[in-house]
Amino acid sequence: MRKNPYIRFKTPALENQWRDESLPHPALVVAVNLAALIYYRMTGQSATITSLYRDNDPGVHGQKPCRGADLRTHGLMGDQKAQWTGAINTAIPYQSSKPTQTAMVHDVGRGDHLHLQIGPLEPMPKRTQEA
Ligand SMILES: [Zn+2]
Repeated sequence: MRKNPYIRFKTPALENQWRDESLPHPALVVAVNLAALIYYRMTGQSATITSLYRDNDPGVHGQKPCRGADLRTHGLMGDQKAQWTGAINTAIPYQSSKPTQTAMVHDVGRGDHLHLQIGPLEPMPKRTQEA
């Protein structure tokens, strides 16, 4: 597969998860790519994925296909984090009956990160027949 210059990985295991075509939900791949492009425009750096699928996680990170990804926020200044999440949430509204969002910056005790998630009502796309 072609290398993506906008994305790098905290560990080789995460890169293997990312390249497993059956694991990340296709809409999660779109959300991560969009987030990484915006991050590159703001910082001039590749975005780093720090988490994708996690065994025994009851949330979006524990689903197959995986519907959750975490990215580092390193290098973003001032209101850039809010601009980042705002642009992603405008482009990709969360598909769920619950009022939550695709992108949020939050801190779970080891510094903040961008959490990206795809809602449970997001369909699995099917490739359409060529005419
Ligand atoms: Zn997360």
